[in-house]
Parts: sequence; structure tokens; C-alpha cells
Amino acid sequence: MTHVVTLNAGSSSLKFGLFELGGSDPVTVCTGAVDRIGEPGTFVKARTVDGEVLANGTPGAMPDHASALDWVLVLLGRTYPECEITAVGHRIVHGGPDIDTPLPLTAMSITALDKLSPFAPLHQPHNLAGVRAAMARFPNAVQIACFDTAFHRHHPWENDVFALPREYYDKGVRRYGFHGLSYEYISDHLAETAPLLHAGRVVVAHLGNGASMCAMIGGRSVGSTMGFSALDGLPMGTRCGQLDPGVLLYLMEQEGLSASEISDLLFKRSGLLGLSGLSNDMRTLERADTRETRQAISYFTFRIRRELGAMSAILGGIDALVFTGGIGENSRLVRDRVCSGMGWLGIELDPDANADNDRIISTNLSRVSVMVIPTNEELVIARAAADLLAAQPNEARA
Ligand code: ADP
Repeated sequence: MTHVVTLNAGSSSLKFGLFELGGSDPVTVCTGAVDRIGEPGTFVKARTVDGEVLANGTPGAMPDHASALDWVLVLLGRTYPECEITAVGHRIVHGGPDIDTPLPLTAMSITALDKLSPFAPLHQPHNLAGVRAAMARFPNAVQIACFDTAFHRHHPWENDVFALPREYYDKGVRRYGFHGLSYEYISDHLAETAPLLHAGRVVVAHLGNGASMCAMIGGRSVGSTMGFSALDGLPMGTRCGQLDPGVLLYLMEQEGLSASEISDLLFKRSGLLGLSGLSNDMRTLERADTRETRQAISYFTFRIRRELGAMSAILGGIDALVFTGGIGENSRLVRDRVCSGMGWLGIELDPDANADNDRIISTNLSRVSVMVIPTNEELVIARAAADLLAAQPNEARA
């Protein structure tokens, strides 16, 4: 039986999955993550699809992604000694302006993707480090890249530009949009389970540590709250979300902050963490219930409502609102705050269904279907790998 490993390398984490190929859809065998790579207290967790815990703890120092990948491979090799890895699928944050589909990776394409690192300096180099490490460990497997930007590449021009002189657009300063693998999963899921909604106007709110929203028509992106970088749009766990560019000028000119200090501020010290002064974790904020934590949640849901209104205006109304990501899938409070008073848009929440995290949390009379759909970015990567292997087995393996 052949298998695909999926890898999702963040700045200090490596999420992974093992999938069995051969049937109509890849089957999840196990998933897991290595967190705090290169920091004290590296933490690992892994469990099978049936919930059996394969790892949970602190295995000792892991200085880089290659050592984290080694740990993953030892775990997989020990647990599934019979397993043949024919492909490794990678989540790559940036595909640039042209890539709109998964691609087999070669040394040449990695060099080309490296040139996009200035567009995503905190993510792209780590993603490619994961690819290089996987190539060294699995020299005979096909390496496949799945891009977070690809899903949005056919959005309208107005959603692709900033009102800067054109030369910057030509240099790649565009609105790319991210979280594309999550949106693709939701789009595919709707196509299978609710084809009429899939054909219609849908807003998806991916609310996790990173958070964004996507407006879709017919299952395709027509707009995203994230833009040139993964900073724009909604406030996130530690990222600021939408910011007046004048604030950056002020920080540089009056506060004397350097580019790297500003980067640290906007990516790591802002958002829910910055506003609450306590935590980036929604569960902690909900439990703490102080003035600051209430205000942080309030700003988070206010921005989601604002973007929902803007997207609905562009779409000419909506047929479905989908919540996903750790917060979207689990926080009844956030969903309730986002949906309350949205009757004008046709949204009527069923409080019991919302409290139970049901799949459909709107009432029978609600004109808009409000849904909770757990995302599965790893499965999107595994499917891309299976499709690529099936479509071009010889070329891809060459
Ligand atoms: P990432 O973007 O790192 O993949 P996740 O999608 O796992 O993040 O989302 C993490 C967020 O989900 C955290 O803010 C966490 O507090 C929140 N979350 C998870 N479970 C719950 C819950 N039961 N109630 C509220 N928030 C939750």
C-alpha cells in the first residue's frame, strides 16, 4: 500500500500527516505536530485517526526543521514499518502571482520559489527548509507543493491591487490572499454535501491563530481579507490585522523602530495578545473575562462583522456563512457575537445548535445557512498528491 506524507512547516512548528492512497480519496492514518522547534521545550504530539496517542511530550532539543523531520520519520517508521512513501506534499505559503495549482517540486522550482521569500520572509524559507529536508530523506518520493495563495489567483483585478503606482504591482506588490488550502477544503466539502450552496454566494471565516475570510461564488475565491502579507484583514492571535499605513510611518519616524522591530511587533505582539495583554489563545481570553479580554474579543468579532458586511455587499447578499479553524469550529461565543443582529442580512442563529457545535447552526427559517465545517488542509495536500501521481506517474517520478 502506498502512502503520502503531508508537511506544513511554520516558523517554529512542523505539522504532519500520513495518508494511505489507493481508494477514491486518501485515507488519514495519523496526524501530529512538532512545536517550538529551535526553542527550549520542543513539544511533540501525534495520534492515529482512531485517537490512539502515538506521541505527547517533550522529546529533547530539536535545533531545526531537519531534526524535527527526522523525529517525524522515526515515529512513522517505527509505527508503520510496512509503509511505502511515494509522495511528500508540502504546504507552501507563497506561489507568487502566477501559480494557481499544486506543482511537483524540482531543484529548479525550489530556487524559483526561494525568490518569493521576500514576499513572505517569516514563512517561505521555513516551508522550503521542510522541502529540502524531505528531499534528502525521501530521495525517491515525488515532492509536491500546495500553495496558500493559489486558491485566490483568479480573484477580480480590484481585489488584486493596491492604489500604488503601477510599477509596484508589476514587481509583485499585490493582494494575494492566504489560507487557500483551508478554503479549497471548504469549497470541495460544500460541492459534495451542499451543491446548491456551493454554486451560490458563500463567505467562509477561517478563524484560528491566523484568521481570514474569503468570499466565494461558485466555489471560487472572489476576495479575501488577507492581502500582500498574512498580516492584513482580521486581527489574529498575535498579528495586528488591518492597519492604517500611517501607523507604520509613525512607528519608524517618531518611535524610531527598525523594520525588524516593526515586523516583530505586527506579527508576534499584536492582535488578541496585544489587546488583551494576556494571551493569543481564545480559550484563555474567554475564561479570563476581564475588561481587556472582553475588549479584545469584542474587536475581533467587530472586524469579522465589518468584513462580512463588506463581502455581502460585493457578493450582492449571501447564501451561506461557514465558520472554520480552531475558533470558528469551537467558540460558540464568537459565532454568537458575529451573527447577532445580522437578521438584516438573512442570518438567524439557532442558539442550541450553536451551543452544540452542530454542522448547521442557523434556524430553519434563516435565509442564510450558517455552518460549522472543520477544515482539513492536510487532506487537500494529500488529494493533490494523489491526483498528481495518478495524472502523471512517469513524469512526476522522473
Ligand atoms: P492554527 O492557526 O495555529 O492552526 P487553530 O486553527 O488550531 O490555529 O486555532 C487555534 C485557536 O482556536 C486558539 O485561539 C484556540 O484558543 C482556539 N480554540 C480552540 N478550541 C477552542 C474552544 N473550545 N473555544 C474557544 N476557542 C478555541
